[in-house]
This record gives sequence, structure tokens and C-alpha cells, in this order.
Amino acid sequence: MTKMIQCISPVDGQVYAERPALSLSEAQMVAERARAAQAEWAARPLEERIALVKAGVAKLSEMKEQIVEELAWQMGRPTRYGGEFGGVNDRTEYMSSIAAESLAPMVVEDSNRFLRQIAREPVGVVFIIAPWNYPYLTTINTLAPALIAGNTVVLKHASQTLLVGERLAEAFHAAGIPEDVFQNVYLTHDVTEALIQSRAFGFINFTGSVGGGAAIERAAAGTFTGLGLELGGKDPGYVMDDADLDAAVDSLMDGAMYNAGQCCCGIERIYVHESLYDAFVEKAVAWVKNLKLGNPFDASTTIGPMANKRFAHTVREQIAEAVAEGATALIDPALFPEDDGGAYLAPQILVNVNHEMRVMREESFGPVVGIMSVSNDAEAIAAMNDSPYGLTCSLWTSDPERAAEVGAHVQTGTVFMNRCDYLDPALCWTGCKDTGRGGSLSVLGFYSVTRPKSYHLKKVTK
Ligand code: NAP
Repeated sequence: MTKMIQCISPVDGQVYAERPALSLSEAQMVAERARAAQAEWAARPLEERIALVKAGVAKLSEMKEQIVEELAWQMGRPTRYGGEFGGVNDRTEYMSSIAAESLAPMVVEDSNRFLRQIAREPVGVVFIIAPWNYPYLTTINTLAPALIAGNTVVLKHASQTLLVGERLAEAFHAAGIPEDVFQNVYLTHDVTEALIQSRAFGFINFTGSVGGGAAIERAAAGTFTGLGLELGGKDPGYVMDDADLDAAVDSLMDGAMYNAGQCCCGIERIYVHESLYDAFVEKAVAWVKNLKLGNPFDASTTIGPMANKRFAHTVREQIAEAVAEGATALIDPALFPEDDGGAYLAPQILVNVNHEMRVMREESFGPVVGIMSVSNDAEAIAAMNDSPYGLTCSLWTSDPERAAEVGAHVQTGTVFMNRCDYLDPALCWTGCKDTGRGGSLSVLGFYSVTRPKSYHLKKVTK
């Protein structure tokens, strides 16, 4: 029997969309079509592929109104934030601008006697498995470079954002990208894993949870398929004694609460130098009290429901456990009467927390942050590293040398100074420890979706 994949809207708990999942043989036919279409696509001039990808993104922007509304229904993001078009455009523009240089052969010798060079070849079919939290941005990070580099792409998007792959395919096909070059599919986990096992792909980018990433790694075992695994985080902020306090509060609290805390590089723990701790906490509480929880279609709403009541349940459990273990919750949920015990969850700040508590160790992926006092850089570094994750850290200081020195000791993918929760397409988006492996964006993003091929051509025989 055909299995239906459903998106339950967090706005009202109703089924918002459903689509039939493909069987394994149907999914294998999709992969076969992608394989068959790849040589012709790769043979087109680079400039033509870039122009088509940019045209696809432009078509997507034309669908802005519809997409913003659909995002609110699918994952609860307030419509006032207007979708993900700025980032999608910037990343596509940047990756397009560096494509020729990134994909050009590295010439070691071009003399009368030899041509020796390392060229980059597309890997073939790229499979993207995407999450719901930034559904367009996380997809474009691989989709744009993969197509530009001459691969064909199969996309399986999250059930929670069921319509996103459909919109991307609609836009890209309308721009002239052939249907078999970019295909959107609906798949169950079992079929996804079986498809990977059948060696259908040249590279897989999985963005999602640690558990999901581990399942994909197991499915790919023995197939030698290249993997990019962009997984969870528990990103720390560290406010040093010489920090601009107001700027630190503003950015770090926004980093903790934006998108209802559902950002892979959202701030989940904050360490503040003891000299600034009391002031930081007081300002952070005032900042959170200004948030407006509510229906994402209401223009005054700054924090919508979490994408699924299951996710809110996890955060509620972490908060309750921490309080039972001695933490103090500084936000009275009564200030947020829209908290319904389900997907609509009041934001929270916890103090008197420690690293024994789940809320300070496991990813919360919700609007809660724990704040601890530290007395020096060494203590802060030890606390930041006391985590199974390593995506970003955000250091607040007026001294760039101190930031570089502290950052050098933090096990992380990105070191930020005086900012957080941001992706720069010119830098590699990557992580360490359980946050995964590989990297997207930047020149290294092109290396993930291509393989090196060495040419050692001897032009003379004597
Ligand atoms: P998720 O539950 O792991 O799902 C991610 C995607 O993988 C979805 O399309 C999901 O499909 C699919 N999936 C999960 N397990 C699978 C399996 N065993 N076999 C086949 N497909 C599987 O993660 P999420 O809840 O969507 O996203 C939130 C997580 O993503 C957080 O941990 C966040 O930190 C992480 N994230 C990381 C980054 C980064 O750059 N490092 C960026 C964004 C998000 P279904 O939806 O159909 O289950």
C-alpha cells in the first residue's frame, strides 16, 4: 500500500499537506533518470549552468508571497520575517561568482614536455536530504554548487516542510533546468536508506539530526559514497570582561530565540565573565520579555510555535528536569499566555545551571538558553569544549587578538567574534565532533560535489 507522507501544521495541528511516498523501485527509476541526464548537463558550458541556476533562484523569488505563507503553515515561522530569499540569493550569487576559479584545473606544469594538472569532475548524481528549520537555505547550500559543477540532483526534503522541494523544482524547471537534472522526491526513511545502499549516488549531503546522520552513514557503509553530514549543535557564546554588553545581549539573545530557537547554529549556552554576569542576565531577561509569542500570521508575532509539538515537548522536558535539579527559570510563563502546552512554547532563560543537566549538554533546538558565570578565559574554553558538538562559538570582546587566541582553543567549525548565528558563503560551513563532517559553501563546497582527477600528459617520448 502506498504510504502517505504528511506535514502537520504547528499553527493549528491539522494536516497541511500530504504526498504519496515513492516505492524503492520508483525511487531507483528517479535515480536512473538523474544518472542518464548527467552527461548532457555536464557538457553544457559552465556559464550556461550558472545562468540557469540563477534564473531558478529568480523564479523562486517571484513566488515569495506564496512561499512565506507556506513556511508559516509548515514550520511556524512568523510571516514578518519574510522567508529566506536574502540568504538564498546571496549564497547562489557568491557560489556562482567563484565557480570558474574553483572548478578550474590546478596546473602544476604546462611546459613543452608535460601537462600535469589536477582537474575537478562532477561526482554524478548528488542526493540532498534536507531539514525543515531553514528549508530553502540548507538546500541551496548544496543544490546551487552541485548543479553548477555539472551534477544532477535528487532532493528529499523533510516531511515537516513537504512543499519546499516542490517549490524549488517548480522554480528551477520554469527557469529551463531539465526535469531529470533536478528531481524532488517524497521518500520514507526505509526507502531512502535502501536507495543509498543500492549505490544510486555519487555524493550525499545530509543536514539534520545526529541520529539521522548516523543512520545515513550506516546506510552508505561499504558503498564508498561521499558524505557531507551537517548535524546538530549546542553552540556557546562567551562574553568576556571587555565586551560591549548591550551588543552582546542583543545578538546572543536573538541567536538563542530567533526562529523559536530552531537554528543549527543558534546560541544554546552562554558563559559570561563574572564582572558582567549580573548585568548580562538582567538585560537578557528584559530582552526576552519583549518577545511576542503567537500566531505566525499576526504581524506583531516575533516568536511563532515550534515546528512540531513533539519538539516543544523535548524542550519542556529539558527545562523541567533542569529546574528539578536546581536551575532557576527566570521567565514566568504567565507572561506568555499563548503558551498552550503544545507547539506554542514560552521562551525561557535558565540560571544556576551546570553541565550535568541535559539542557546544557543535549541540543534543545528551542527557545531556551542557560547562562553561567565564568572567571577567566581558560574556564570558558573548558566549558565551551565540554560538549559532544562543535558547530560555532561566539566570542564577545573588543580585542581581536584575544578572540583569535581563545578561538584557537575551541573545538568548533566556526569562530565568531562579536556576532553569531550567521553563514558567510565565502567561508566553509563545517563542524567537528558529533556535528558531522565535510563542508559546504566557499571553494571547499565545490570540492564536496566534485572529485579530483589527475592528468599526467607527457608531450614528448624522448
Ligand atoms: P532530522 O529529523 O534528522 O531530519 C533531517 C532530514 O533527514 C529530513 O528530511 C528527514 O526526513 C531525514 N531523515 C531523518 N532520519 C532519516 C533516516 N533514518 N533515513 C532517511 N532519512 C532520514 O532533522 P530535522 O529535525 O529535520 O532538523 C533539525 C536538526 O538538523 C537539528 O539537529 C539541527 O541542528 C540540524 N541542522 C544542522 C545544520 C548544520 O548546518 N549543521 C543545519 C540545519 C539543521 P523526515 O522529515 O521525513 O523524517
